[in-house]
Amino acid sequence: MTLKKHIAAHVRDLPKSGIREFFDIVAQEKEVISLGVGEPDFDTPWHIREAAIYSLEHGRTHYTSNLGLPELRSSICRYVHKHFSVAYDPRTEVIITVGVSEAIDLALRAVLNPGDEVLYHEPCYVSYGPSVSMAHGKPVAVPTRAEDNFRLTAEALKAHITERSKVLMLNFPCNPTGATQTRAELEKIAHLCIDHDLIVLTDEIYSELTYDGADHISIASLPGMRERCVFLHGFSKAFAMTGWRIGYACAPAILTDAMMKIHQYAILCANTTSQDAAIEALEHGARGVETMRREYEHRRNYIVRAFNDLGLECLKPVGAFYVFPKITRTGLTSREFSFGLLEKKKVACVPGPAFGPSGEGFVRCCYATSLDQIKIAMQRIGEFITEVKK
Ligand code: PLP
Repeated sequence: MTLKKHIAAHVRDLPKSGIREFFDIVAQEKEVISLGVGEPDFDTPWHIREAAIYSLEHGRTHYTSNLGLPELRSSICRYVHKHFSVAYDPRTEVIITVGVSEAIDLALRAVLNPGDEVLYHEPCYVSYGPSVSMAHGKPVAVPTRAEDNFRLTAEALKAHITERSKVLMLNFPCNPTGATQTRAELEKIAHLCIDHDLIVLTDEIYSELTYDGADHISIASLPGMRERCVFLHGFSKAFAMTGWRIGYACAPAILTDAMMKIHQYAILCANTTSQDAAIEALEHGARGVETMRREYEHRRNYIVRAFNDLGLECLKPVGAFYVFPKITRTGLTSREFSFGLLEKKKVACVPGPAFGPSGEGFVRCCYATSLDQIKIAMQRIGEFITEVKK
């Protein structure tokens, strides 16, 4: 029996994640220094873990409401209002999800009809294109360029809008480039969204991690945007909670209601222990976030300088925990660079095209690993470049 023919065509045709493919290889290698997977090297702060233990000890082992715990939804609304200047009603405009990943999937499935076009800036997080395809939409990548600091310009966006455009996905600070957006450019993008009646999914997962005193602005806070935005956020990055699988979406009730229909049948509710831990994170986690943020900033300063000293042009991103150096001077493709570096020097970084074709000529290095490890990795990268040139 050939099972292949039973796989749904849109799933069969999906490419596997370029990151996963690479890290399946990394997993087989010993003593590799990984600048690869995008997750904090910090364990979740202890007081958050304690809240989860307390929750379990008190027998909080049952389903929550489909939307999530009311206390968590209230806490989220206070947090989003304070930090992003957007007000949501905790009773009807927030849904707690299994990470931002589920929130992206719900939002897309709630609004897309087959063939609707979804715009997003690229290079981008690996799941965007496939998530659109799985929701039967058509992914439309808008390339961004190093010359523009990988910012999305309203001009480039406009050139890709068609009659079928329905959604714009934004992620600033950006994975993999670390790019952020100026208020002026965001305002131009917001005008385009209003003019073309686009829904905006704004993925704010790295918003706490900004540097050099840069302010983070959410497009949802700009005039006329709240009503057409789905604000997506979670706990994985800033609170170092990747394994807890907890995130949320805030949006006008008509949108959360539609998302809720899918969530209640597919997931039922997010993990109860994680929801209790998330309340503790929002209510008492600010100091821990700031400690980690400062450490990332310190590492960013080091790694950017080190790449530029090696002659590999590297922008200084003001957000997230990635650098995206240009490796074309080595004469290698991104894939040759990453696989060569792994094989010869046991350092893992992700080839840029894993984040879309415009990532060719770049590699992504995640600096959410200790400074000592980063220093050794940079020394090995220096040796690798010297050997390649010979
Ligand atoms: N969005 C972006 C831009 C990411 O980089 C990631 C994870 O790397 C996610 C969403 C997924 O986050 P979560 O762990 O909350 O599902």
